[in-house]
Amino acid sequence: MTGSRPPILFPLFAELDTLPGVGPKTAKLLAQMHVTRPRDLLFTLPQGGADRRLRESVQGVPPGHVATVRVKVLRHQPGTGRGPYRVQVEDAKTAFSLVWFRPNRGYLERLLPVGAARIVSGKVEHYDGMAQIAHPDHVLPPEDAAEIPPFEPVYPLTQGLTAKAMAKAAAGAVDRAPDLAEWADPALVAKRGWPGWRAAVVSAHAPDTPADLSPRAPARERLAYDELLAHQMTLALARARARAPKGRASAGDGALRSRVLAALDFAPTGAQTRAIADIVGDMASDLRMYRLLQGDVGSGKTLVALMALLAAVEAGGQGVLMAPTEILARQHAEGLAPLAAAAGVRLEVLTGRDTGAARAGKLADLAAGDIHILVGTHAVFQADVAFADLRLAVIDEQHRFGVRQRLELGRKGDRVDVLVMTATPIPRSLALTQYGDMDLSVLDEKPPGRSPVRTALTSAARLDEVVAHLRRAVAEGKQAYWVCPLVEESEAVPMVAAEARFQQLRAALGDDVVGLVHGQMPPERKDAAMARFVSGETGVLVATTVIEVGVNVPNASIMVIEQAETFGLAQLHQLRGRVGRGAVQSTCLLLYHPPLSETAQRRLTLLRDTEDGFRIAEEDLAMRGAGDMIGVAQSGLPRFRIADLESMAGLMDIARDDARALLARDPELTSERGQAMRVLLWLTEQDKALQLLRVG
Ligand code: ADP
Ligand code: MG
Repeated sequence: MTGSRPPILFPLFAELDTLPGVGPKTAKLLAQMHVTRPRDLLFTLPQGGADRRLRESVQGVPPGHVATVRVKVLRHQPGTGRGPYRVQVEDAKTAFSLVWFRPNRGYLERLLPVGAARIVSGKVEHYDGMAQIAHPDHVLPPEDAAEIPPFEPVYPLTQGLTAKAMAKAAAGAVDRAPDLAEWADPALVAKRGWPGWRAAVVSAHAPDTPADLSPRAPARERLAYDELLAHQMTLALARARARAPKGRASAGDGALRSRVLAALDFAPTGAQTRAIADIVGDMASDLRMYRLLQGDVGSGKTLVALMALLAAVEAGGQGVLMAPTEILARQHAEGLAPLAAAAGVRLEVLTGRDTGAARAGKLADLAAGDIHILVGTHAVFQADVAFADLRLAVIDEQHRFGVRQRLELGRKGDRVDVLVMTATPIPRSLALTQYGDMDLSVLDEKPPGRSPVRTALTSAARLDEVVAHLRRAVAEGKQAYWVCPLVEESEAVPMVAAEARFQQLRAALGDDVVGLVHGQMPPERKDAAMARFVSGETGVLVATTVIEVGVNVPNASIMVIEQAETFGLAQLHQLRGRVGRGAVQSTCLLLYHPPLSETAQRRLTLLRDTEDGFRIAEEDLAMRGAGDMIGVAQSGLPRFRIADLESMAGLMDIARDDARALLARDPELTSERGQAMRVLLWLTEQDKALQLLRVG
């Protein structure tokens, strides 16, 4: 059963219109909600519930709420022209009307004979100060009242899809849910009081009370857990496969590292020392390293990377450090060059800008093993770049990449160890989702001697004052970044707001004082502008977010961010992290266009009040949701139908441990539970996992 979908799941993967009551029209509407198989219906849970217990009167029912009342039919008012058809009724306390637009008149007369008693149920609205129920969901003689469910699930809908059709389709799918063997850890299932899978599906679709709709309700929690477990199983398989071709033990003698430590004018922090020990330990073992180094801006990841690279060199091999942009690659290379020199190793930089003979020369030296450490952009992974003996790949600032890309990285050398560094503090649930296949080291301690950054919110209306301040600061020898959002002036001519601000600040502060970098500039001009700022030649650098990650100019102590309300919190935190790197007091000014929305106000205030990147990330996640926080498509973040990452970090942890434990006992998933797990992987369409199982 490795190769194809288990037959027990066939009914859930049939066409939608094989369900009773679902025709091509309904199927098309459902497809708009990304529901194309009965399976998808199972995982589309009611988002609410209507309380249809009988009450005395519609009086006091808030508009938009459902009410079920016993009424006496008073009279029919068929309406004139395009007006609606009204049936006047009265309940125990008040008269109101039932309303239909374009009804079948004879049908209504039979349904609601004048003088008869009826039970009606539907959403109460107010019209001209009068209560009404338009198109009631139920109209029944009192003796049939029991047909109305006291608590009725309310499904998400799309335009044109009726609640009834949706409920019917969902019920049809639920009827098809087979009994499946338990794939979750039985002890966990017992401890949490979770139902089995089928029972959970049935019960999640049949809530009896509002509490049953809570994500904490056992049935829902179980289904959410299944999703997390399936995802973690994929990551666990990826991790196991990445480590399976035994790595090479790269144990250095520490000689090069000692030389660098002696050359530093500071001591590594405890967190750096711990991370280095983790990494060097992984490298020395014959399991392949697959590790994530997470550290807030300024936490000193570069030194950790260098130590790892040196360990590879000590062991007789080579290391590569890859950065996401040209600027960062060059900056890394420049920053590391003196330390590499102190260690006596050769470090070179390779980017897309290297061409011709110079590039050929570097490639030859690399292939001969004369270059020990290569720093570069994606260019280092081009097909013709060959290493003599690559032992370690370090990927900097890679939070935008997904599992698959990471798997491909290891292929450049012979069982290379992989270290990924991310500067974006991400909440634990997201870290587990994106990096659950890796081991984790966290730099949770900042180098000493940094003063906190003072952050202020300032209206853009006070721009003149800001510029005046800036003039004084620059006169005192301070340096400032001025960040502008990218503005598309027209589709044809993208124009950078930074360009306009650059001209204006030059006019105000002096031509030689202000520099400019943005993504659309030719690379040489970008580099030249960066270099002038780094050397202190220019006092102000106007920029787009190209300076977002990694750029390090310790003397820069002022960060102005225009239209701060348009940036994400994490991005603002990254930008702010560019200052506060030296000993002087630093300032971050968040300029905004009033009026600020309430959310924007909250977000900017949070940023003002804390510099703890992890806290900011947690709050950002809570405020925006996971999908928004990191562009789903580009992040490789899975789309969960039931689980929400905002509140399920704990379950994600458990799912990871559960998946790893099962795989440790049963690497090919052949045991009874392993087989059940395969069914889950098919059910949740974890293609990557299934593929890994096949090739594994
Ligand atoms: P990031 O984690 O953001 O990449 P960097 O590695 O660029 O941080 O380090 C930021 C700055 O802190 C650099 O100037 C670096 O030399 C310095 N630094 C790193 N580790 C320490 C330390 N233990 N003590 C003092 N300064 C340090
Ligand atoms: Mg860095």
